[in-house]
Amino acid sequence: MTVLVTGGAGYIGSHMVWRLLDAGEEVVVADRLSTGFDWAVPPEANLNIGDIGDPDFIGPLLKRHDIQSVFHFAGSIVVPESVTDPLGYYLNNTVKSRALMEACVKAGVSHFIFSSTAAVYGTPDGMAPVAESAPASPESPYGTSKLMTEIMLRDAAAAHPLRYACLRYFNVAGADPNGRTGQSTPNATHLIKVATQAALNKRPFMEVFGTDYGTPDGTCIRDYIHVTDLVEAHYLALQHLRSSEENLVANCGYGRGRSVLEVIDMVKQVSGSDFEVKLAERRPGDAVSIVANSDLIKDRLGWTPQYDDLEKIVGNALSWEAALERRNRK
Ligand code: UDP
Repeated sequence: MTVLVTGGAGYIGSHMVWRLLDAGEEVVVADRLSTGFDWAVPPEANLNIGDIGDPDFIGPLLKRHDIQSVFHFAGSIVVPESVTDPLGYYLNNTVKSRALMEACVKAGVSHFIFSSTAAVYGTPDGMAPVAESAPASPESPYGTSKLMTEIMLRDAAAAHPLRYACLRYFNVAGADPNGRTGQSTPNATHLIKVATQAALNKRPFMEVFGTDYGTPDGTCIRDYIHVTDLVEAHYLALQHLRSSEENLVANCGYGRGRSVLEVIDMVKQVSGSDFEVKLAERRPGDAVSIVANSDLIKDRLGWTPQYDDLEKIVGNALSWEAALERRNRK
């Protein structure tokens, strides 16, 4: 049974490809390489360069490989960019997901596992961990574009023999502990990526966006999840869809929050680099605290995180960043 990974040349997608190959699955990748890299796809996977929104590309690909299951990672992920280019985000994340779904229905694909996001919740009410039953109320076109895809999937699965899982990611970070892949986007804006770049002198300093929030140290709190635990949740979701009739919408996080300053301290401690940190204004659109209630995924999939440890997340992110630097110097 062959599995398709869209966005398999990107950060999370490439980790998924490795996980599937490790499990002995046949893997086909579809990626247009707009932000991903062909070298991030292991040679054992079958890489096809093209647009998932193009039915003439994706339809024949699904049929040629007799794809039973699709992991859909391809999409745009920068929240502020979605605010300035909402129609671009609705095209990439919503319209193209619809085209992919239609091709899947036509080709008789059985399982669809979708990269969703905690951004569907908007700003949670208070500091408590947010459960899937919380109202969806996205505050950015990015969050809305993902929520619309969740809704399409729900309705398509009710009308056709397709089962699905939507996994709502909290703050994904770290890299493959075996050093095979990691976050390679040069201008990524996420906290741990930026801090590891500062630690390795790839940037002269970094900034903390907002120090006057109502949290113990005044900086925002997030639930950082190791990318390896995240892809494990996807693999378990595939087993679940293969063996049951139940669709799933589930949070992926550890249920524990870390502040921006705690993360920066950890990067300094693990790297041994005392890089410059400037205290800056709040970044527009940041919620004070977003932490997952992860009971559902633990209960339904038996998901047991192996890397719920900020030191490991940071250590793996640093190793990958150093490896990238060596690669770029060649
Ligand atoms: N952040 C920061 N400096 C940076 C990048 C991020 O202070 O250079 C903060 C950001 O304001 C937020 C937290 O780190 O409070 C996590 O941001 P990130 O962009 O990693 O993820 P988000 O939660 O926005 O998806």
